[in-house]
Amino acid sequence: MDERRPIVNAGTPAGAGSPPLRPLPALTPETRPFFTAGLSGELVITTCSDCGHLSHPPLPVCSSCSSRAVAPRPVSGRARVEAFTINHYPWHPAFPPPYVVAIVSLVEQDDVRLTTNIVDCDPAAVHIGMRVAVRFAVETDDAGEQVALPEFAPAPEVTDV
Ligand SMILES: [Zn+2]
Repeated sequence: MDERRPIVNAGTPAGAGSPPLRPLPALTPETRPFFTAGLSGELVITTCSDCGHLSHPPLPVCSSCSSRAVAPRPVSGRARVEAFTINHYPWHPAFPPPYVVAIVSLVEQDDVRLTTNIVDCDPAAVHIGMRVAVRFAVETDDAGEQVALPEFAPAPEVTDV
């Protein structure tokens, strides 16, 4: 076994002239649906077919009723910014500053929270309560598999003042 497998891509450059690679998640049976559904434009969250509860991170049982009748199901991808920080320090070459790290809650169930980046807007415009919608950054990991990382951008059709 390769001891490095838990982190598929530690952010090492692929070669001269290549764009820097961001660290990518390891794909496991539990996380694979979440990190690959975005390749077809869907955000999926583990959903209980007995009580309808959404559980995230993905679990083999419902976090509300303990049912094992759970499966990844698409959600709207709409969310609300709950907390954020604007990073001004170049911690990693794949993330040129300034960039926004945020916690967003899904409109379907506000205790489902994702740590993500807010993109396609001026970082100074990000605020708590801001309505955002998912989009995906597609990367290829060291195993040659595509991973779609959920990011969020302002939801343009929603007036938010
Ligand atoms: Zn349940």
